[in-house]
Amino acid sequence: MIQLETDVLVIGAGGAGMYAAIAAARDGCRVQLIDRSLIGRGGATVMAQMTVSVALGEQTPDHWEHHLADTLAAGRGLCDPVLAQLLCQNAELRIREMDAWKVGWARENGHLKQVYAPGHDRARCVYVDFLNTGPAVSRTLRTQLNRIDGIRRIGDVLITDIVVHQGEAVGAVGLHLLTGEAVALQAKSVVIATGGLTRLYRRNSGSLNMGGDGYALALRAGAELVDMEFVQFFPIGHLAPRMIGMDPIMWDPFRYKLGGRLLNAEGEEFADRYGQAESGNYVLTRDVATYAIYKEVEAGRGSPAGGAYLSFTHVPEAELRKSFGPVIDRLAKDGIDLTKMPVEVAPIAHYHMGGVRVDASMETRVPNLFAAGEAVGGASGANRLSGNAITEAFVFGERAGTTAAARANARTASGWNEKAAASALELFKHRGNTAAVPNTAALLVELQALMADHAGPFRTEEKLRLALARLEQMQLQLGALPATGDEHYNMLRLDWLDLRNMLLVAQCVVRAAIERKESRGAHQREDCPGMLPEWNLNQRLSWRDGELSLARVPAARPAEAAR
Ligand SMILES: Cc1cc2nc3c(=O)[nH]c(=O)nc-3n(C[C@H](O)[C@H](O)[C@H](O)COP(=O)(O)OP(=O)(O)OC[C@H]3O[C@@H](n4cnc5c(N)ncnc54)[C@H](O)[C@@H]3O)c2cc1C
Repeated sequence: MIQLETDVLVIGAGGAGMYAAIAAARDGCRVQLIDRSLIGRGGATVMAQMTVSVALGEQTPDHWEHHLADTLAAGRGLCDPVLAQLLCQNAELRIREMDAWKVGWARENGHLKQVYAPGHDRARCVYVDFLNTGPAVSRTLRTQLNRIDGIRRIGDVLITDIVVHQGEAVGAVGLHLLTGEAVALQAKSVVIATGGLTRLYRRNSGSLNMGGDGYALALRAGAELVDMEFVQFFPIGHLAPRMIGMDPIMWDPFRYKLGGRLLNAEGEEFADRYGQAESGNYVLTRDVATYAIYKEVEAGRGSPAGGAYLSFTHVPEAELRKSFGPVIDRLAKDGIDLTKMPVEVAPIAHYHMGGVRVDASMETRVPNLFAAGEAVGGASGANRLSGNAITEAFVFGERAGTTAAARANARTASGWNEKAAASALELFKHRGNTAAVPNTAALLVELQALMADHAGPFRTEEKLRLALARLEQMQLQLGALPATGDEHYNMLRLDWLDLRNMLLVAQCVVRAAIERKESRGAHQREDCPGMLPEWNLNQRLSWRDGELSLARVPAARPAEAAR
């Protein structure tokens, strides 16, 4: 077994985790930054290619309070006002810090350039040209990590459990994927920065590392989850032809700018059938666009891959080249000639508004256990404002790193306890019967299909209950222990560990979706249309005696933010 010891343990090296590590090291702590993949390359951050919201007021007068008003409006009454305020108020500090670190935000006339994005009342988003925001952000943070002493970066380690002793987090255990060895990490404070859960869905914009591990880790450790029913779907995610190395949600701004046409298999523009004529400006709201595409496919008028066509063929080539820049040639390398052919698009799972419940210092209800980035729930309520997710990763990451460092600096030892770690380590000692192994690959595919078909953007109680019943059966099929041993890069064991978390997190999403008997933001119930004032509630999930327990609490009002 590999044994490590540190002051601050950061799990997940996306934007939030890297920022947390930098902040904790700046405050004098020894930091271990762990990722199941490559450092800075495993999650959503490096994949994002578009916009980052911040009220800089460089080109248009602005103030973080306007940004907050838009964030709260998008959240449909359910945002945690404290977290939302923290996000908007601290955005400028982080964006300017990234600018000083030479991330390369686009500039115009000597100012940082700010552009419009849906839901913002003014041009408020920075970006890095051309479709390079996420890669530039990740590279910049990786460079900072390299410059700061005291941060040890370890890739290919999958964290499987937080170790809790006497009610407090004292470290974590995991698996070194390359050697198959167990890893025990003692830490005075722990930050979960493992990103979102979109891998639960068949079509998603994320990576294989986004199966919601952090939610399961936090839940099993005794923390609460909040707003788990709210999964954001992006209406025109890329479907076909195959596109390599590009953001699957890249089409949106080009559609607004150039008037990309959404067409069904019969070549008709169909949006006006669903209550919103596009009237030439192509700003169909995300919910209507998602609904319209679903219904066209259902009616047998979908594209061959099961979505809609998005066409720019009516736009002059010179205009396409000007807008797409070098991207148009990258697309051509994948056989996509936008001057001659449409692409196929469909709604895809993109972001999760719910997550680990934290206070203003990013601490969960388990002392010494913090969370940051998309792993955190609450700031976006029922729906996230575009561009807020990368800002959230920076702001919450920095905050969690700083507060976790303060906690570690105040403690003399981690409080690690062998007995407390023993049950988590038991998973790796087990030598099971390989003949009895469930087909984990098939279970993964079934789980993704089940969630897409029964707990996707449009839900009914009947479908959700079917999903829950099947998820419970799948849990039994999976069993309590992985059935294989300690070979290096053992995919059967990795799938088993992933499924253990994914099945738990899927049940959280479905349970909360069954309970919420209304339609709000990203949670649309075909059998309960309309947003109801009596549902101005947040739902919190916790894990008691091996069962999920759900509590409802009135959503805090923005005026209560200064608590
Ligand atoms: C394609 C795409 C485009 C996007 N575009 C935008 C955009 O333009 N603007 C915007 O604001 N937002 C965008 N988003 C959302 C935004 O990128 C994410 O919300 C944000 O980057 C999340 O950052 P994070 O650090 O919390 O998580 P991530 O960047 O996802 O990092 C999480 C890390 O945790 C690791 N990890 C997970 N589980 C474990 C475990 N058990 N053990 C160890 N490591 C683990 C993963 O490998 C990963 O490296 C986009 C998302 C996607 C997928």
